[in-house]
Amino acid sequence: MIDFNGKRALIFGVASETSIAWSITEWVIKAGGSVVLVYQKRFLSRIMQLTKDVEGIEGLHECDVSFEDQVKNLFNNLEGRFDMIVHSIGFAPASALSKPTIFTTEEDFNTTMIISAYSLQRIARHAMRVLNPNSSMITLTYLAATRLVDGYRIMSVAKAALESFVRELSPILGAAGHRINAISAGPIRTLAASGIPGFDNILGYMDKTTPLKRAVVQEDVAKAAIFLMSELASGITGQTIFVDSGYSIVGVPNVTD
Ligand code: NAP
Repeated sequence: MIDFNGKRALIFGVASETSIAWSITEWVIKAGGSVVLVYQKRFLSRIMQLTKDVEGIEGLHECDVSFEDQVKNLFNNLEGRFDMIVHSIGFAPASALSKPTIFTTEEDFNTTMIISAYSLQRIARHAMRVLNPNSSMITLTYLAATRLVDGYRIMSVAKAALESFVRELSPILGAAGHRINAISAGPIRTLAASGIPGFDNILGYMDKTTPLKRAVVQEDVAKAAIFLMSELASGITGQTIFVDSGYSIVGVPNVTD
């Protein structure tokens, strides 16, 4: 149904085989598309291992999105044009996640916001000149952007900013025919998630309280991602779409079944 033949995706945020971005990579390739991956230097050997013999991966580039120069150089060195950009990046220093938000330092706030929210604007700004007409960009967010989630701390503030960036960027990208959306994923065990205090509690809640009576997995998110980046979603932009087994619509959960 979704045909990405001849389409190219630039995907940020693969750190391991559990990364949401890796599942999106697999699904873009399965739909016939090709992928250029952008990763952080410290995971080079893991990325090489993961991508070995995977057809459809056209290239690998190192980039730390904290730095304007690195993002600028990345886009200067990319060959060809792209139809899809995936921003699947989030980071908050352990020193911030380990303390209540009232104790977050200015330095940790800045680091969290630059990597987890501003990097979307930074990537979109540079990407404009390498995008084919009617391209699509997606990012990954979490419910804590709009609701209080114990343990998510300063990352909640960054996700709120990220969702706001999606809305703010939508008319700018839209003027050139491009779309941008966020997927608000339910909790999934990944490297980034393991840094969230009380993550097991958040995950454990899903089996009992969601309409689907299960947590989502990477594939659930990846399938929504390829839909949002495909022609089937041609009228959708600026949105935050929940892929969370329905958790976000629950008022009082049924915990007796
Ligand atoms: P993940 O595999 O750890 O992916 C996070 C990615 O962000 C990693 O590839 C990480 O690279 C990258 N990153 C962090 N700082 C970076 C920087 N300065 N420059 C470039 N890349 C950087 O975990 P994930 O769960 O798939 O997370 C992907 C996105 O989904 C994040 O935005 C996360 O908040 C969001 N999300 C996750 C869940 C969940 O429960 N897992 C739920 C909702 C939303 P390094 O590891 O090398 O730092």
